[in-house]
Formats: sequence, structure tokens, C-alpha cells
Amino acid sequence: MIRISHHRIKCIGCNYCVEVAPSNWIMNPADGKSTLLESTQKKGIYIAVSTDDDFEANKEAAEVCPVKVIKVEQF
Ligand code: SF4
Repeated sequence: MIRISHHRIKCIGCNYCVEVAPSNWIMNPADGKSTLLESTQKKGIYIAVSTDDDFEANKEAAEVCPVKVIKVEQF
């Protein structure tokens, strides 16, 4: 399993995470930031749990995010 986190307030809405990991990310037209699907929010950090199948794509999302607000870890 993997845990993905998103410090959403710092997101600049560049769309890269949606491009590389469309199973977990969508753009939110209301505020122009990305949204981590099926996540829960605590103190501004959105957390989602997903399967190992999504690890590589989300690792790439974390790497390409220009403001480094995505983290992913396996557990
Ligand atoms: S890659 Fe980073 S800055 Fe760009 S939309 Fe995704 S979370 Fe936001």
C-alpha cells in the first residue's frame, strides 16, 4: 500500500500530477488547484491511501511537482 500526501494550499495548479498520475489526481476548476482523489484533510494536508500499483506514477508526480507539495511512501 502507499500513502500519498498533498500540501494543497501551496499547489500552483500546473497540472503535472494529473498528467502523470490520472488515477489519483484531478484538477479542480473552482480554484485551479489539483485535488487528490479519495483523500481526507487534516491541518491542510490531504492524505490518500492507494495500492502499490499507483506508486510509480505518484513518485513521478512528486518528482515533477515544481513546488514539491506531493509526497508518497510505501507502507
Ligand atoms: S504538480 Fe504540484 S503544483 Fe502542479 S498541480 Fe500537482 S500538486 Fe499542484
